[in-house]
Amino acid sequence: MNIVVMKFGGSSVADEDKICAVAERVVATRREGKDVVVVVSAMGKTTDQLLALARRIHPDPPRRELDMLISVGERISMALLSMAVQKRGLDAVSLTGSQSGIITNDRHSDARIIEVRPVRIQDELARGRIVIVAGFQGMSYRREITTLGRGGSDTTAVALAAALDGVCEIYGDVDGVYSADPKLVSAVRHIPDLGYAEMQEMAEHGAKVLNAAAVEFAKQSGIAIFVRRTDGTGSETIVRKFPPKAPGRVVGIAHEKSVRVISSADPGAITDGELLQFLEEQSLPGKQLSMHRFGSGPGAALVVSREFLEDPAALQGKLRERFGERVAVRGDLGAVSLIGAGITQGFTILRRSIELLREAGCESCGLHTSSFRITFLVPEARVEEAVRRLHSAFIESDPT
Ligand code: ASP
Ligand code: MG
Repeated sequence: MNIVVMKFGGSSVADEDKICAVAERVVATRREGKDVVVVVSAMGKTTDQLLALARRIHPDPPRRELDMLISVGERISMALLSMAVQKRGLDAVSLTGSQSGIITNDRHSDARIIEVRPVRIQDELARGRIVIVAGFQGMSYRREITTLGRGGSDTTAVALAAALDGVCEIYGDVDGVYSADPKLVSAVRHIPDLGYAEMQEMAEHGAKVLNAAAVEFAKQSGIAIFVRRTDGTGSETIVRKFPPKAPGRVVGIAHEKSVRVISSADPGAITDGELLQFLEEQSLPGKQLSMHRFGSGPGAALVVSREFLEDPAALQGKLRERFGERVAVRGDLGAVSLIGAGITQGFTILRRSIELLREAGCESCGLHTSSFRITFLVPEARVEEAVRRLHSAFIESDPT
């Protein structure tokens, strides 16, 4: 079989006309003789609206019920798209995540796909149908409806492509991945090829084109992801195992406008496990933990993405009850990351970027590195300036 999984994001299915345009594309692909599986996101801002609605009813909605609610967004899109395809004379069927055999763990609102059993999809394809799957959702072993975290339709698409041994195409507003957010930097560069690790670092540290868990899935299964614009114009980015390499170069600057930092001058607050257990109870996933006990003053810090912690003051209150003044939460910082394989092999890029940020008045109060990334924590108000400075120094001035 020649299976293609085409994923269309929320803006691609935002209204009736757009849904019809997607249907045309899907029909055309089917007529080329391919077996087509389509994964759809919720229409436009539907997920945000459903989340806001839930929060008006309950300030901290029970996660199980939240999943029941927000999984509906994608179901609306799948049914409408299936109707639009059938109207054009081809046979189609829409399926929810659970009908598609997407089995997850039971972490509501941020579930991980454990297994895909795409038997139903394969049967429908064998009948000659176009299969339209609701992205962003699955079913836990306890038969509960789960969702995969914001942007999770990408993960559905990659997981299905891997399970069906197909090609994975992600369609959206932009014709691929760019070296920075085009809203902040006018001289952005298109990136034609990216390795999994670089793409994953970009996604985990703020780039919104692709979901980080989706890239992790692609890495595990070795499949390539093609990122394209919905109408097929412009270029594309291919995320794959062996992209042409130029190690030691910064390929992109990712940023998170706002992060939360939970810190303590007492590393014991972290190492004795009590704080970590507390964060687990609050379902707070940390992304970058550091601790040290040497030199003049010991310390520990944990960075949390804003999407998981909207209200730092509320957490500070709960922490004070349990830990007194030992642990503090800051909500006034953002993160700026330089991404590129091998950029931390020497200290040149690190030194230059520290100097540059200092000159620009964006001095950082936190720094993390990995083999593919250098991240600076800077005051929220300086994030955009920091992105522009670093982009201009490391990407715009690079002739290649
Ligand atoms: N509709 C979900 C969201 O807005 C999933 C997705 O779009 O991928 O996060
Ligand atoms: Mg997305």
